[in-house]
Amino acid sequence: MSFVIFTDLDGTLLDHASYSYAPARPALALLHKRAIPLILASSKTAFEIAPLRTELGFAHCPAIVENGAGLLPAGADPESLVSADSDYQRLRAILQGMPDELRRLFVGFGDWSVKEIAARTGLPMDKAALAGRRLFSEPGVFTGTVDEKRRFETYLETTGLKARQGGRYYTLSFGATKADQMTRLIADLSDEPGAVTAIALGDAANDIEMLEAADIGVIISNPAGSPLPHLSGEDAGRIIRTRAAGPAGWNDAILKFIGPSDLQSQA
Ligand SMILES: [Mg+2]
Repeated sequence: MSFVIFTDLDGTLLDHASYSYAPARPALALLHKRAIPLILASSKTAFEIAPLRTELGFAHCPAIVENGAGLLPAGADPESLVSADSDYQRLRAILQGMPDELRRLFVGFGDWSVKEIAARTGLPMDKAALAGRRLFSEPGVFTGTVDEKRRFETYLETTGLKARQGGRYYTLSFGATKADQMTRLIADLSDEPGAVTAIALGDAANDIEMLEAADIGVIISNPAGSPLPHLSGEDAGRIIRTRAAGPAGWNDAILKFIGPSDLQSQA
């Protein structure tokens, strides 16, 4: 059977607090050994993901960036995606063209200096700079009333933009999700439907669509976050929850599903 793995990063492959993936090393080595593609899927930008993708040894795989708003193609340097007509540049042009009474209700990364991004995200300055190099979507904060939000979103609809409230930010994009990108990539990978078994791993609400769209979904335990609601796939056993948190749970799940029997863990 051939597999492809789609994984969230923070709280999933990376420890929620330390950002370490060390406990997942045995499973990562197994993926390398069996030449199974690992597709990183995160809210991070292409500039944030590219160095990690290289460090993990999966630069030959595409990555899903900015929560699914875009793709970093296999082997690509994010600099090659920078262009005056990127989704992000088009998005910012739409924002700048908005009537003032709507525009003043939203402030996003593109309105902040690197110092402000660092202060708001808690990232060190060098990481904040990479988080600010956006290509596909604009996270920010909406400050208006419910009624103003309705008018803001009605205006967005006329431009093709969509807004999504995440755990931390209100994000504008042209609407693609992690699950949309996953579905496209699976279609690219498989000559016939069902030829590839997709395993998706995630810990938070923005991973639910991806977990539900995969052949196998793995909810990674994250004691620091709010637990995900019961998903329908759990009844059929198509979606499972790990006992161990973060990268340790990730390691257990990968070994359980694709590990040879001598490597299988007790998870
Ligand atoms: Mg996460």
